[in-house]
Amino acid sequence: MMSITVKEISKQFGDNTALNQVDLTIKEGEFFSLLGPSGCGKTTLLNIIAGFLPATTGSVSINGKDVTNLPPYQRKIGMVFQNYALFPHLSVFDNVAYGLKVKKMSKKAIKKKVEEVLKLVHLEEFTKRMPHQLSGGQQQRVAIARALAIEPSVLLLDEPLSNLDAKLRKEMQTELRLLQQRIGITTVLVTHDQEEALSLSDRIGVLGDGHVKQVDAPLTIYRQPKNRFVAEFIGQVNIFEVEAGMDGTFAAKHHKVAKNQALLLESAYDLDTNNEDKSLMMLRPERIQVAGAKGNKESNEVEVTVVHTNYIGDSLRVHASLAEQGDLLLHISDTVFEEPPQPGETLYLYWNSTDIIPLADKE
Ligand code: ATP
Repeated sequence: MMSITVKEISKQFGDNTALNQVDLTIKEGEFFSLLGPSGCGKTTLLNIIAGFLPATTGSVSINGKDVTNLPPYQRKIGMVFQNYALFPHLSVFDNVAYGLKVKKMSKKAIKKKVEEVLKLVHLEEFTKRMPHQLSGGQQQRVAIARALAIEPSVLLLDEPLSNLDAKLRKEMQTELRLLQQRIGITTVLVTHDQEEALSLSDRIGVLGDGHVKQVDAPLTIYRQPKNRFVAEFIGQVNIFEVEAGMDGTFAAKHHKVAKNQALLLESAYDLDTNNEDKSLMMLRPERIQVAGAKGNKESNEVEVTVVHTNYIGDSLRVHASLAEQGDLLLHISDTVFEEPPQPGETLYLYWNSTDIIPLADKE
């Protein structure tokens, strides 16, 4: 098992800065996801770790050893790509055996290893099949087996499940996580799918515009995002730009409940407003609750008008507006309403002060 350290990595493609001074440490045995929107530099970073791309500046170490100038085959990495990249003219057995033959292992040792890794991915019965005789999920399991056959120090996965349909993808996610835990291999997954990253990872590194925006465990990333970028990229969110109000409350600058009267928020957490002209707080839509009648508190309660609703099975996504200015997004469990609220309907909402989360960064 190996750790990976990326130090001050930058990558220029002509004028385009794909990565800008990226520092990351991926711990031994960890399942780490690089998550971010399209074009943020995830694949570029993975390829630099693998050695397929040189960095413009910075260094990569695997288990303390500087590998910046080593070619991929000397880094002991196993790599799985989005398109599987299986050899179409080779059987499952020969696909998995490929890297071992290159290493000139004995036939007997190759057979033993191939059988062992195919068993790990539950494909031991499929050795003679050709890739086109396999489902997408099975092909991806062959690709994973092939990557594991060479006994890599680290496993690098570039969107390996994105070609699979939603149901198979979920099954493969569970399988991948169980497999990784069984063999304990340090794994880096590139994905733009937040749910995949949240459900699989020990830690997630969120990338945006070539920068690392936050590195944390899934729960922390979701509940305590550091900045607007992470809050908005992971799940849906209401963000308030606030200024300190009266009695420990905060006035949401762009959310007015009546003429010149700001929506008042109360947070259970401290917000350092010293010398700041802008502070951000967030409220997740599923933390908002619906009351039967108008409340009588100044803060953390509001009357809204439904603009539109989306029913998505387990919940309703409701887009609502305040009387004067501003929008709120709320997710209501399917169990709350007999019938979804209609556009124009009035709802009375409230939330707890523990659900108003200050963001550490001002952007
Ligand atoms: P996606 O999720 O769409 O695959 P990504 O986060 O993996 O995106 P990268 O593929 O790493 O993003 O690309 C980061 C940036 O670098 C993008 O702006 C991309 O256009 C640019 N880029 C990547 N490879 C090259 C290249 N070979 N030449 C020029 N620009 C490149």
